[in-house]
Amino acid sequence: MSGIFNFCAGPAMLPAEVMTKAQQEFINWQDTGCSVMELSHRSKEFVALASQAEADLRHLLNIPENYKVLFCHGGGRGQFSAVPLNLLKPRQSADYIVSGSWSKAAAKEAAQYGEINILDITREGENNKSVLPPQEWTLNKYAAYIHYCPNETVDGIEIFDLPKSHGVPIVADMSSTILSHEIDVTRYGLIYAGAQKNIGPSGLTLVIVREDLLGHAAKGTPAIMNYQLLAENGSMYNTPPTYAWYLAGLVFQWLRELGGVAEIARRNQEKAQLLYQYIDNSGFYYNNVVTGQRSLMNVPFWLTDESLNALFLTEAEKHGLLALKGHRMVGGMRASIYNAMPLAGVKALVAFMDKFASEHSK
Ligand code: PLP
Repeated sequence: MSGIFNFCAGPAMLPAEVMTKAQQEFINWQDTGCSVMELSHRSKEFVALASQAEADLRHLLNIPENYKVLFCHGGGRGQFSAVPLNLLKPRQSADYIVSGSWSKAAAKEAAQYGEINILDITREGENNKSVLPPQEWTLNKYAAYIHYCPNETVDGIEIFDLPKSHGVPIVADMSSTILSHEIDVTRYGLIYAGAQKNIGPSGLTLVIVREDLLGHAAKGTPAIMNYQLLAENGSMYNTPPTYAWYLAGLVFQWLRELGGVAEIARRNQEKAQLLYQYIDNSGFYYNNVVTGQRSLMNVPFWLTDESLNALFLTEAEKHGLLALKGHRMVGGMRASIYNAMPLAGVKALVAFMDKFASEHSK
């Protein structure tokens, strides 16, 4: 809806153009007389749509031939289990880098399936939070894989570099950062992402996996989590989340048309810079992450006078600025400014924050 900006961390807003197209096609997709959600996943129409979506994603991220793209169920948390089940071989361990709440949750889940080493890289200063940079991580050369989360959605911390992994496959939970800036896929063994932030609606999870990592699933791995089986069946071993796949395809097309990942990265920098700069200069609000590690997608911030929190949220809603309440674990506020958030949304937020600050400064 015009004039309404949704800052939810996920499920998050989708691009306005995508929503309009989906609405137009909702009950009659390409003159089939059906909605995409009513088509068989094995119909030639859906198979064509699904492979186009994969081709567009491959183009956007420059995914090499020797990587499979899987369209899965189960969300980010599903992958917290699927990754160790598929990659952690008997008598091997995996390194789990803990940089915040989501990587901690991933490590906890993985520990159910095998031996993991936790490397807690979080550092709490008196007034700020940071993480040890990848060059300082002490990694095990013999690990089955290294798992990390480049963007901690709750904590607002982003890790922009990659560690030197000495050939150990790097597994990245990119749920809240995928497609926000360019990456070199060849540096990763596996990338996964729940769709509900930068890809499409919840219910779909993307896995991009190097082929040599397939075929090692532990005995007892549920079939729908077995990467090899999913790859052999074109992600259609069981019925995939077809409508979510279709919407993801529209998002990929939208991204390609606007200039690809390089262009969205430029826009994301501009939005984040505007918001952080305003917060830092305001004296009324603050962010506690050291510069250089601040998330470009999730911007937590606090009011110096926390007794104004409830009023801030009510007033923000009246101005069409939705879902700014911070995560329950950290409190305060959080503005998630994913790919679909236009610059106009961040400008509207900054203008509101400024007005609120001038009305309530003592
Ligand atoms: N990983 C990250 C970085 C997330 O931000 C989230 C959810 O917000 C998850 C994992 C969990 O995703 P899901 O709810 O799809 O299981």
